[in-house]
Amino acid sequence: MSAKTVIELDHTENELRVTLSRMRQAYTRQPAPTDKERIDRLNRLHNAVVDYKDRLIAAADADFNGRSGAETLMLELMPVLEGIRYNRKNLRKWMKQSRRHTPLMLLGAQTKVHYQPLGVVGIVVPWNFPIFLGLSPLVGAFAAGNRAMIKASEFAPRTGDVLKEMLAETFSEDEVAVVTGGVEVATEFTRLPFDHLVFTGSTQVGRIVMHAAADNLTPVTLELGGKSPAIIHDSFPIEEAAKRIAFGKGLNAGQVCVSPDYILVPRGKVDAFADAFIKAFTKHYPSLADNADYTSIITDRQHDRLLDTVRDAEEKGATVMRVNPADERFDHTRKLPMHVIKDVSDDMRVMREEIFGPLLPLVPYDTLDEAIAYVNGRDRPLALYYFDWDRGRAERILRETHSGGVCINEVMTHTIVDDMPFGGVGPSGMGHYHGKEGFLNFSKAKGVVRKGRLDGNALIGAPWGNRYFNLFVTFQLRRFRKI
Ligand code: NAD
Repeated sequence: MSAKTVIELDHTENELRVTLSRMRQAYTRQPAPTDKERIDRLNRLHNAVVDYKDRLIAAADADFNGRSGAETLMLELMPVLEGIRYNRKNLRKWMKQSRRHTPLMLLGAQTKVHYQPLGVVGIVVPWNFPIFLGLSPLVGAFAAGNRAMIKASEFAPRTGDVLKEMLAETFSEDEVAVVTGGVEVATEFTRLPFDHLVFTGSTQVGRIVMHAAADNLTPVTLELGGKSPAIIHDSFPIEEAAKRIAFGKGLNAGQVCVSPDYILVPRGKVDAFADAFIKAFTKHYPSLADNADYTSIITDRQHDRLLDTVRDAEEKGATVMRVNPADERFDHTRKLPMHVIKDVSDDMRVMREEIFGPLLPLVPYDTLDEAIAYVNGRDRPLALYYFDWDRGRAERILRETHSGGVCINEVMTHTIVDDMPFGGVGPSGMGHYHGKEGFLNFSKAKGVVRKGRLDGNALIGAPWGNRYFNLFVTFQLRRFRKI
């Protein structure tokens, strides 16, 4: 590392620390924003997103070198506005102190839980939804009365710059700050002693971030990735499943954390599924290379990684169907056709690593037990999809598998339900945001005992064995008799 780089790094680190300390001071001056103040922040954010809509869409398009404007609108901006609306509507209810059961020993006292803002929340954003994954945690942080620093993704720099300008224009610098820059900045960012850190990104980097946060004992919410399976039951109409999966898998060209990663298909129906999937996908995207509805792969590196993954599968014996409906050339673009992949095995990268792109391996299975065992034999995924009209069998899947979230007869849409927690489990993440769980995630639930004028301790206190103590113990032991 050159001397100049070291100095630049020091500079960045200092700037980050100064920003955090300024925010913390502002928090200390105003530690408990009222509901009105929180709603005002959410309203300002709402208006900023509305005002910047076109610029955000254009920036994401430029970053991807072809990001469908409809997708940016539908999958990034609208869910942020929906989340603001939902939080604005509910935060008064969530902020209320909650009365709790008081044990006998505290007779006469009152027990309550207060939900207190944590202070300053750090938010690390990945490139695949560079707007939503920065602003959605911000909405939760604001609703709970916090301030926030956002680290935008270096792979979506134009969107990061527009977000920075938008938020700087809308909020004071001690309410929100956006930090841009590469891995060095991200590394310094995650070493800051935030009151809470939300990291959205890969499982691999999530591990590093958790280590960094541990040095400060900063609590983390890790929104990570993994291989989210879809299981199609033998009784479910295969064309219908293929249609529903094709809708989701095409979004952002499969660069979605909850995109169906592989499909467990009844053994005799693999070809029927592949045909129906290709037909449904082609209906959505009759052409790809110059079709503005179909999103590009974000970088050359990701593009090469996906092509290497296909090559590796082919070399190891997989059958690859390249879906190129208009028979186009792709050498002038980073768009990548959908690849349906059959005859896969566990030694292929496509079955070992998260795909995060338009590749779809099909895994045949014989019995539901076998499909469940296949899922349970791997890391707990971020999402699981099950196609079956039979509610009893669906309940079994819910009981016997673990995943961050589930859709039945559907894919991916659980992420946009504001009234449900969103988050992974094990290697796919920890903690939740969205919904009331998000509010709780960004609040300290502080237990408070308030004692009145009556002081029972004065009666029962040592020397032990006094009359009131004996009465109390006798009564309690009677309550606690063996069941
Ligand atoms: P990534 O892990 O490479 O990077 C995410 C962020 O971490 C970036 O802002 C980057 O600057 C920062 N970063 C990189 N190295 C770092 C380090 N050493 N220390 C601290 N920070 C560092 O992920 P990505 O490629 O941007 O995004 C793709 C991944 O994100 C996929 O695995 C996907 O499943 C996951 N993801 C998860 C969710 C979710 O909600 N669970 C949503 C979107 C994406």
